[in-house]
Amino acid sequence: MATQHETASGAAGQSGEIEQYDVIVIGAGVTGLYALYRLRELGFTAKSFEEGSGVGGTWFWNRYPGCRFDSESYSYGYSFSEELLQEWDWKEHYSAQPDTERYLNYVADKFDLRKHIRLNSRVMSAVFDEKEDRWEVVMEDGHRARGRFLVTSVGILSAGYTPDFEGKDTFKGISCHTGRWPQEGVDMKGKRVGVIGTGASGVQLITEIAKEVGHLTVFQRTANFCAPLRNGPIDDETQKQIKASYPEIFKKCMETAGSFMHEFDTRSAMSVSPEERLEQYERLWQEPGFKKWLGNFYDVMLPGEANEDYAEFFKNKIRERVHDPVVAEMLIPKTHMFGSKRLPCESGYYEVFNQDNVLLVDVREAPIQRITETGLQTTDAEYEFEILVYATGFDAVTGSLSRLHIEGEGGKTLSDKFANGPRTFMGVQSAGFPNLFTINQASVGNFVRAAEPLVDWICEAMDYVRQNGYTCIAATPEAEADWTRHVAEEGKKILRSQADSWFVGANIPGKARGLLTSPDSAPVMRAKRAAVAEKGYEGFILR
Ligand code: NAP
Repeated sequence: MATQHETASGAAGQSGEIEQYDVIVIGAGVTGLYALYRLRELGFTAKSFEEGSGVGGTWFWNRYPGCRFDSESYSYGYSFSEELLQEWDWKEHYSAQPDTERYLNYVADKFDLRKHIRLNSRVMSAVFDEKEDRWEVVMEDGHRARGRFLVTSVGILSAGYTPDFEGKDTFKGISCHTGRWPQEGVDMKGKRVGVIGTGASGVQLITEIAKEVGHLTVFQRTANFCAPLRNGPIDDETQKQIKASYPEIFKKCMETAGSFMHEFDTRSAMSVSPEERLEQYERLWQEPGFKKWLGNFYDVMLPGEANEDYAEFFKNKIRERVHDPVVAEMLIPKTHMFGSKRLPCESGYYEVFNQDNVLLVDVREAPIQRITETGLQTTDAEYEFEILVYATGFDAVTGSLSRLHIEGEGGKTLSDKFANGPRTFMGVQSAGFPNLFTINQASVGNFVRAAEPLVDWICEAMDYVRQNGYTCIAATPEAEADWTRHVAEEGKKILRSQADSWFVGANIPGKARGLLTSPDSAPVMRAKRAAVAEKGYEGFILR
């Protein structure tokens, strides 16, 4: 195990020496910051290498207009510090990106984490040294660092995906991806704008920019089920109540499948009368956030009659809100079940399509053929604009790992290993890549609630290795095979595997289809990890 004396300063690294740490963390977003905090508490030396010029990860890069939470702000913050919980005032029930970025900067300052972070440091490769049981990472600028352990806090939705349209580089106007929004912003006032994509990012962006653009063309391939967010500011009295109820808020989150604050109604939608059913749908519709999704009759989230009934309720809401019946029909989902894709929450999305200066184009009917100098061409028509926004999503979960050149035992790369889908043990390690912990694979649901205990578990595993005088922890091929089979078998059964979405890699042409995260609920995952640790890290080889 590396000791304090092995640790060189950042200055030494710049003068050509290789910095040495116990743990190297890639990324300084939500999990990277927390990992640094926990590692330092445990007495490890650690450094995070972050591509961005600031901390925050997702909340640093996704600064497109309208970007905000759709889980409750106070359920998303870190729980590890009571002082932080009491000091920080969330401004809105569903925090906007600038405020969340401010929060993560506040955390970095309050816990003095910046000295453990090197910004503007894009990691190009990470190679495992089998003789030394250490990882070496090399940055784009040639900077190098070594560490016993490597933690990839690279995010599950960070490798942006832009379709490889013919002529993409010929566009003469401004084009940008929602996940890499320019720091200086994009002035859209009075401009002609085209947006490709109507997922959660597109829905937020379209609603916001429609307030100021001159003309907007929305290119939609798949209509989504979207529900009103019903955001609002947090007044002083509510702020006090929130601060007094953090233990209950977090307790509730820890009990639910997706770590959200909402619990399903244990009744079947079909066990009550149609009137009572509709009354519940309407009541939840008026409430904020995901409640209408995750707080409803449990079987609206199972394929079958209840799911279809609730989908029809949503479709009728779209028909009520969109004046032109032809446009309303275009906005009604037809290719997937309610709940099989992430439910975007919106604040006036459907009403945008009642504006005279907004045009909806169905690119499933008439696909995009090419990007032109002045806009784009579908099989049907040509469209012109000055700004083109790609709200086309991410190569989720594995993309951010495959993008890095991660080389394990025998020179094998993680991207080759994941070519037919991820092969891991509990999402945290892959056989042949000792001492590498992949945070991004295992967390799903309310991100911070799921990620905090996961980071704790990983840090405790590293501590166990150190305490027991080992230098290496590696998932066994058997444990990995069992887990991969479990994900494949159980993954097929759950609703979020049924639609073509990032959850199963179906949004990326050529990507192997399969659930990319755990099929288990958050409490089950925590229990499985705890059982592994209790049995002396069963499923891992310790050397
Ligand atoms: P996304 O859900 O994958 O949506 C991408 C959009 O681009 C889809 O409408 C997709 O159409 C379209 N698209 C992709 N390739 C296309 C092509 N070749 N031609 C035409 N259209 C194409 O990505 P996202 O909206 O960035 O959201 C990703 C995830 O990020 C969300 O599910 C959510 O988990 C997270 N997110 C969260 C928040 C929040 O907390 N509020 C906000 C934004 C994002 P198809 O559907 O037909 O593939």
